[in-house]
Amino acid sequence: MTNLFIFNTDLRLRDNPALFYAAENGKSLVAMFIYNPKKWESHNESDLKIAFQIDNLRNISKRLAELNISFKVIHAKGIGEENKKIIEYVKNNNINEVFINKEYGINEINRDLNLEKELENLNKKLNSFDSSVFLPDSIKTQSDTFFKVFTPFSRAFRSKLFTKKIEVLDLPKKQKNKTQESDEIENISLNAERKKTLELYRVGEEYALDKLDKFIDHKIHSYKEKRDYPAIDGTSSLSPYLSSGVLSSRQCLFRVFEKLSEEEEGIKTWVNEIIWREFYKYILFHNPRVSKNLSFTEKYDEFPWSDNQDHFTAWSKGKTGVPIIDAAMRQLNSTGWMHNRLRMIVAMYLSKNLLIDWRKGEKYFMQNLIDGDFASNNGGWQWSASTGVDAAPYFRIFNPITQSEKFDKRGDFIKKWVPEISSVKNIHNPSTDERNDLGYSNHLVDLKESRKKAIEAFSNFSK
Ligand SMILES: Cc1cc2nc3c(=O)[nH]c(=O)nc-3n(C[C@H](O)[C@H](O)[C@H](O)COP(=O)(O)OP(=O)(O)OC[C@H]3O[C@@H](n4cnc5c(N)ncnc54)[C@H](O)[C@@H]3O)c2cc1C
Repeated sequence: MTNLFIFNTDLRLRDNPALFYAAENGKSLVAMFIYNPKKWESHNESDLKIAFQIDNLRNISKRLAELNISFKVIHAKGIGEENKKIIEYVKNNNINEVFINKEYGINEINRDLNLEKELENLNKKLNSFDSSVFLPDSIKTQSDTFFKVFTPFSRAFRSKLFTKKIEVLDLPKKQKNKTQESDEIENISLNAERKKTLELYRVGEEYALDKLDKFIDHKIHSYKEKRDYPAIDGTSSLSPYLSSGVLSSRQCLFRVFEKLSEEEEGIKTWVNEIIWREFYKYILFHNPRVSKNLSFTEKYDEFPWSDNQDHFTAWSKGKTGVPIIDAAMRQLNSTGWMHNRLRMIVAMYLSKNLLIDWRKGEKYFMQNLIDGDFASNNGGWQWSASTGVDAAPYFRIFNPITQSEKFDKRGDFIKKWVPEISSVKNIHNPSTDERNDLGYSNHLVDLKESRKKAIEAFSNFSK
């Protein structure tokens, strides 16, 4: 009577419903990871994120051994092959029941539905769990439809949050016997630079929980005042752990409310960000078109985006001539992470001032972020490009220089990432002479003109 649990984006032992219940009802348990480079490539997952996940899994494997749970790695070529490999394993190893936590991408939903049928044909059961804070179909408008606007969604979310106390699951039960030898998990190849970047991120859920606790104890109170300034370490930096499921949103909310109440602004604001994360997952679940590379607002599928490859390359390399944009892109390229305020600024610049298809930016982000999360990334990009759910209106375009003056007033962040212009008079927008002298790029496009052009393009398209 061996149960099988399969890891997805839930690389943790605590508060892992599928793993918890798989350990409860069986005599022995195998926890499996599917090593699938073809799928990772087709999902544009960054090598950094995959390497981070593999390091986390190594840590998990050791802890599973202490619980007498075997850790197995199987290989598949693409998402389409995963079920075949799982079924083979189930047959060859006399598996009793299979346990998974659901994922909301359209391919993942279809894969799991097929797995359920294939297991049924073998008289076996698939047990699917949901590790969201609330089930996506449990939050509805008064007219029984699904929310498309964040504020009323968050109100409904909060009222559920305060009606029923959030609970988290403990470690899975220790099994009587370990039935199989655990597998080693192989590395993916990273170049020397990426290996160094990976060292910036410590692994393990104990570390993530401790980081969460430290944030709650010391930083959450000033979150509202500090969260928009990229030169300040004012946010939690928990996104790599949340995106790979080393930590769950539920654990975050549980730990916050265990210690604090929502009356304080800093706490309310941070909780709101966790709700944004849940909102984008909810949108993905209810609107499968967003996982088909389509705009949330259908009409924008036909929008005449620019295909200027030189502009895209300059943006991606941090050579646009707009210091705050270049600093942000260089931060992403060298650390695999970017501050939220900057994500909005660079996404709006690409999709509005350069009028480049937001999907190119979305892909570039996924390929480079350590915290790449399909739902949040897609949501953030479509918000910035005005094609998404509850998006920024197309005529409200950030001026990156004004944003820079406001959120990096002294230019500390710019100086760190664009050191070649540290000495200029106006760090937010050096003069042409200074640019020429220091070898810093000129503006790719005139900011006023390109803003006007974008508003015209969106307004003509909307007619
Ligand atoms: C264009 C764009 C792309 C983005 N891509 C991603 C992505 O791939 N992965 C990702 O996790 N976040 C993404 N975000 C959201 C946000 O920028 C990051 O979650 C945040 O910067 C992570 O830093 P932190 O952990 O210090 O966040 P904190 O400010 O401490 O917030 C706590 C947590 O709340 C969640 N959160 C915060 N802001 C948002 C938001 N706007 N939308 C959804 N969830 C949020 C994250 O899980 C975050 O870790 C994107 C935003 C934009 C505008």
